Amino acid sequence: MSAMQVRSETARVLITVKASPQPSAKYGDTVCVAGIRVDKGRADWIRLYPLPFRWMGVEQQFRKFDLIDLEVRRETKDTRPESFRPDIDTIKIVGHLDDWKDRQPIMSRVPRTSTCVLSAAGSDHHDAPSLGMVAVRSLNRVVIESFAGWSDAQKVRIAAAANLAPLDLFGDAAQTPPELKPPRFVVRYEYRCDADSCPGHTGQVLDWELTALQGRMHRDSDEVVRTSIEERFHARMFAPGRQTSFFMGNFEDARKRGSFSVLGVYYPPEAVASAVSLFDLDIGG
Ligand SMILES: [Zn+2]
Repeated sequence: MSAMQVRSETARVLITVKASPQPSAKYGDTVCVAGIRVDKGRADWIRLYPLPFRWMGVEQQFRKFDLIDLEVRRETKDTRPESFRPDIDTIKIVGHLDDWKDRQPIMSRVPRTSTCVLSAAGSDHHDAPSLGMVAVRSLNRVVIESFAGWSDAQKVRIAAAANLAPLDLFGDAAQTPPELKPPRFVVRYEYRCDADSCPGHTGQVLDWELTALQGRMHRDSDEVVRTSIEERFHARMFAPGRQTSFFMGNFEDARKRGSFSVLGVYYPPEAVASAVSLFDLDIGG
């Protein structure tokens, strides 16, 4: 290792965000994966990038709310403060928090912010937080619209990815996935965050759950798929008695740092969310 290289460190991460795969010429396609770093008693956001998730070996394909250990190092090209480059071969899945009650002791320690604050800071300075947990004060509506199709730039990246040799890129565990398919629908939440004078926001849902749901239903009619999306992303995630928050993230593009999307939805029962002081935190690295 040369003196210029940033030393890698071991991190334990509760995975909370797996966003939909995006076309990437260099990495096939990549996924924004983020979570809460819990080693050394902290509860900090961390983004793991690049992770060519669909190209990784099955044994490395962790799920949301898995606890993983891995080697990471600061990524110098991506200036967002939470971004680390993962060493894919070191990923070990060490647990899974299946129940809201198991997740809450960690999630209760994650600082809450608001979309208003994140957007203002992101537009103002480029080392502002690029990930954040935001309580939804009120949901105005859920908009489900047909996807306009990949942009020309994305089509170029998909074509370039078709020529990549995964074994050269990612080692023995790599596999060649099927071509990245565009989703049928995009979903946006119109909502207010917790800031006092919130004017309201529109946040596109980038959660992989949405893409996966549509993939499983590729034989169903538009109407049936819409109904399923509505059931999952509206009725279930905003059910009475749930305390619903968004995991927000922005883009690396410096011109878009003030624009945040919904990377995931956290919706524990209110009873679990408010009973947090009864739990002890005993997960460390
Ligand atoms: Zn707001």
